[in-house]
Amino acid sequence: MGGVEGRSRSVGVELARLVVIVALPLAGLIAYILYDAARRDEEHAAGLALQMAVTTADRAANYVETVRRALETVAKRPLIQAMDPEHCDPQLAELREFYGKPANIVVINLDGRIVCGATPPPKGVVVHTADLQLIPMLLARPRFRLSRPIIGQITKRWTVAAVQPVFAAGGKLVGAVAMGIDLEHWVSFSAIPGEPKGTIHDVITADGMVIARSQEPELWIGRNAGDSEVHRRMQVAIQGWARARSSEGTNRLWGFTPVAGTEWYARSSVSANRVFGPVRERALETAFLLAVVIGIAFIAVIASVARLVRPMQKISEALRSRSSGHGETHVPETGPREVAQLAAELNRMIDTGARREQDLRRFRAAMDISGDAILLVDRATLHYVDVNRTFCDMLGYSREEILGKTPMDIFSVDRETLERDYDALIADRASMAGVVEGRYRRKDGGYVPVEARRRAVQTDAGWIIVGTATDITLRKEAEEALRASEERFRRTFEVAGTGVALIALDRRFLRVNRRMCEILGYTEAELLRLRGRDISHPDGLDMINKLRPDLYEGRLDVIRIEKRYLRKDGSVVWAASTVTVERNAAGEPLYEIAIYEDISARKAAEDALRAAHDELARSNAELEQFAYVASHDLQEPLRMVASYTQLLGKRYGDKLDGDAREFMAYIIDGAARMKQLIEDLLAYSRVGTRGKEFRPVKLDVVVSRARTSLRAALEESGGELTSDALPEVEGDELQLFQLMQNLVGNALKFHGAAPPRVHVSALEKEHEYVISVQDNGIGIDPQYFERIFMVFQRLHDKGEYPGTGIGLAICKKVVDRHGGHLWVESAPGKGSCFKFSLPKKK
Ligand code: ADP
Repeated sequence: MGGVEGRSRSVGVELARLVVIVALPLAGLIAYILYDAARRDEEHAAGLALQMAVTTADRAANYVETVRRALETVAKRPLIQAMDPEHCDPQLAELREFYGKPANIVVINLDGRIVCGATPPPKGVVVHTADLQLIPMLLARPRFRLSRPIIGQITKRWTVAAVQPVFAAGGKLVGAVAMGIDLEHWVSFSAIPGEPKGTIHDVITADGMVIARSQEPELWIGRNAGDSEVHRRMQVAIQGWARARSSEGTNRLWGFTPVAGTEWYARSSVSANRVFGPVRERALETAFLLAVVIGIAFIAVIASVARLVRPMQKISEALRSRSSGHGETHVPETGPREVAQLAAELNRMIDTGARREQDLRRFRAAMDISGDAILLVDRATLHYVDVNRTFCDMLGYSREEILGKTPMDIFSVDRETLERDYDALIADRASMAGVVEGRYRRKDGGYVPVEARRRAVQTDAGWIIVGTATDITLRKEAEEALRASEERFRRTFEVAGTGVALIALDRRFLRVNRRMCEILGYTEAELLRLRGRDISHPDGLDMINKLRPDLYEGRLDVIRIEKRYLRKDGSVVWAASTVTVERNAAGEPLYEIAIYEDISARKAAEDALRAAHDELARSNAELEQFAYVASHDLQEPLRMVASYTQLLGKRYGDKLDGDAREFMAYIIDGAARMKQLIEDLLAYSRVGTRGKEFRPVKLDVVVSRARTSLRAALEESGGELTSDALPEVEGDELQLFQLMQNLVGNALKFHGAAPPRVHVSALEKEHEYVISVQDNGIGIDPQYFERIFMVFQRLHDKGEYPGTGIGLAICKKVVDRHGGHLWVESAPGKGSCFKFSLPKKK
């Protein structure tokens, strides 16, 4: 604002200037009119003064002419011509009567002596004329003359002598007649028509002596007024008018003209004040009026300035407070119409500006939250003119630091390329120069790979290139990762230990790896000309084909199949084929990926294993059969040995001595043990060969039967058998009973000092039940956990705990037959827990 105030004038000063501009010529015009009026007045007054001077001159000239004529007549009279002092002409007295008292008329001879007079000189006295120059003057030029003013010798009054030469009859100059003119009375100054008041008329000699005056003649006559300004002007102009100072110094307007027949001038003058007074008065009035008008104009100016300027000041105040960020958003629409219109216009501009500001703010916000870097470059200077926060964050510079730079400073581009690209953008908005890839150098020296998109925009300030830059680090990494992964895949594909093939939808091989070629004995080129069918063994031609619809329609993820293929040399190769299908984004099959594993060796091993297993089963069966038959057949002779030994004892017992009876007791005991061993062995062999069909079996029932069968042992040992609710399982009831009887029997048998407590419980798992038989007996050292399940393996002497060592072997065989496991958890002195699992019913 300071600048504006300094540079230009305010409205008030402008309007005042306007007033002055209007008033000055007006004043000039008025001054001219007044001046013109004054000039006219002056001319009029001058004309009048000259006219009055002429009238006065006429009056003086007439008087002089009358005197001349009278003297001329007198000079021709004989008595005068005679110059006789004794006889004066009577007419002299008559003449004097005519001209009045002061005017003596005398006759003078050439000696200057007054020879005669209307009032004659006293007798006997010779009187000479006072005018000494008179006679020489006459002698030089004998004609009518007027003397210089003198003070009369007799009258003592100012007088001018009128002198007429007198010639004798022969024409000889003899003397002169002279009449004294009393200067106080000679000219009549009766008022001239139109004469202004205060007009002064006078007659003056050429050298400036006043000889007649209309006012105060007694004071003025005889005075020299020759040194006044007007006199000098008159002497130059002879006739005319002048405004000049009088000898008294007053400013007057003069008319002057020579008096005919004399060397005198007549003058009429009026006071300049009288002439110019009215004009001056009018000028004063006009000046006053003009001053009043200009004053009013100035007041009007001040008032309208106030009316005009105050609303404008309000507008500018509102604008100022607005631009400093607070106060009204709009300017007041008051004041004269134009100012109010201006304010309304300003408000519209403010609204538009506010909208633009809002747009700008939105644009800036959008710019700043954009995940892409946004930048504006001036085409002319190549400087960044604006950038968003993302751009700064991306590069680690502050916005101010970037605004001083050009793309060449931080982007992988040289000036020539940049300018060419920019010009291409300006020439063609859709130019390919719009998208480029490159990298920025960060402030910390690191690099950011980006994809930049650019566009040219024309602004008031010239062409601006608007660009965005997207950080493509991740994309680059992904591309690199993809490339690396493809490379890995390619290498893996090539060096894989399994055969891999890509198969087109028409079953042709698209790609095969080295191993695939090895498996099938073809070269890669040969395989690529073949289809799957061409290498399939005739027996498995459609194995994969049958499943393809399921694979293609998504019901199967992969096809896994083991089948035979034909090698190039006609030999057969077993392969495990895994086929899957690769799809496009829409889920449509593109090609198949097939993996072939050569399983010929495994197939051979499987065959060998199966043969060995079959052989084992057969020999096991034979062995079981043998054991069964053997133990069955052994029972008969054993029974005979026992029976006959008992018979021998009955019949001949009293004949035998003590030793013999003792030996017989050993035989009977041995036979009984043998019998037990054979029965147990028989039972063991029967588990495999005489098993029943599996039926649902309630384990609760099994436990009660075992309790019943073991009643004697329970009573004898003072033991107790408890059980939880037990499940129903699928199995051979008799065998499960044997199992339970053996386990509970052992628990009762191998007890310590305390009476045995046996508890049967069940745990349900996802696919099986785990049944536990827990006792509080002597326990088992973990090193024997495996041994105790073998046939005839016992940990104790038969004297300590009776038994054959077959019980747990039978248990194991039963659990095996039911598809479960049997194991023990125990420690010496801590009791034992035998557990077995049984699969749940299908
Ligand atoms: P037997 O009971 O006829 O000796 P088993 O095959 O039933 O034969 O048992 C083998 C051995 O396992 C037994 O001799 C015994 O040492 C040990 N044993 C079996 N059950 C238990 C048990 N509940 N507590 C301690 N030891 C046991």
